[in-house]
Amino acid sequence: MRDILLKNVDMIDGQSDCVLRGRQVLVREGRFLRISSEPIDGGDAAVLDLTGCTILPGLIDCHAHLAWDARDPSANVMQQSENDSATRAGVKCAANLHEYLSVGVTTVRDLGADWHALEAREAVRDGAVPGPRVVAAGPMMTVTGGLCWQCGLEADGEESIRRTVRRLVKAGADLIKVMGTGSSHLGSGIPVDQPAFTDEEMRTLIETSHRLGRRVTVHATTAYGAHQAVSCGADCIEHHSDFFDETLEMMAERGVFLVPTLSGAYLQARDGADLGMSPAAVESRAATVHNDDYARGAQRAVAAGVQLAVGTDQGSPCVPPSALLTEMQLHVQYGLADDVMTAIKRATSVAAAVLGMEDELGSIAPGKLADFVVVDGDPLSDLQSLERPHLVYREGKCAFEDGVAVKCGAI
Ligand SMILES: [Zn+2]
Repeated sequence: MRDILLKNVDMIDGQSDCVLRGRQVLVREGRFLRISSEPIDGGDAAVLDLTGCTILPGLIDCHAHLAWDARDPSANVMQQSENDSATRAGVKCAANLHEYLSVGVTTVRDLGADWHALEAREAVRDGAVPGPRVVAAGPMMTVTGGLCWQCGLEADGEESIRRTVRRLVKAGADLIKVMGTGSSHLGSGIPVDQPAFTDEEMRTLIETSHRLGRRVTVHATTAYGAHQAVSCGADCIEHHSDFFDETLEMMAERGVFLVPTLSGAYLQARDGADLGMSPAAVESRAATVHNDDYARGAQRAVAAGVQLAVGTDQGSPCVPPSALLTEMQLHVQYGLADDVMTAIKRATSVAAAVLGMEDELGSIAPGKLADFVVVDGDPLSDLQSLERPHLVYREGKCAFEDGVAVKCGAI
């Protein structure tokens, strides 16, 4: 594999607070080898003069559902899961993977819908389809009749829970996703205002997962649900709620991440009518996002010192892969991030830490995998420039150039 020398590029490295101007970056064997403000002798490297462009680490979406299509006219993810054949779900995965790469996303953390994302992960790994690296939970764990039972694994009682975690790990799950509460708008048979599992069940689930070296992330949209999950040792909380102060203190102290997923309600309020969502549903989303308190829980989390990462809940109605940019923007708009740079860090270096892959991903530094995006201009002043990246590289290989997938092949 020929070395690549990127010349005269402004750099957002995923960790620094400012843009590093006029850098030279040498890539060898799929990793960043050298980065310098001085000229680098690249030998016979392929040279790309990127004057006027900005390079940043490949983006990471911490909350995806590759097997769901955000534009499915049913506007109902459970219906998709029940109706779609495995082939159709696989096609949806491929389309989403393609779109993710096109907007500079080089890693996604898939949080379930049956076993499809595990297959998608292997297909990308084998080079059968181009796509970002997939870190997959497999089907979500839920109580009998709990949220997402249609495409998850139901488990109740400590014995059944231990067996289910082991089954997921046996099948190759990279992490465990748990539906810790119900949902106010996705019908399920369990009350939304209390945790779905008993404390003993949740503790058993997390202990078993940790013993097998898997992190646990918990869907929790109520204060009680988040509190139970964090008390029992969860590594990450999905969505947001009116957290208890004590929960946020524990999260900050233990390094539990929060992925607030703001774009779902926002985009459904904006685009739901066009997709065919019922007027009542669209109205309720609009009321949610226009309420001053919408992001209050997440704002309090930031104030308490909790680390936030960017995740979209892609696959939910109106939330396509490109919603990652909206999500970053909303972190700023709702006051969770002081600036776009903070939002970019949450979609790169912090997101890599959520995956436990911070030594490999999420920043441009010697030794790290050469996942990167090159955009014309400055994404700090125009985040939407990321929608049309000039180049997207994964592990030192060009995956997308000016909107066109470059090639299909194993990385
Ligand atoms: Zn989700």
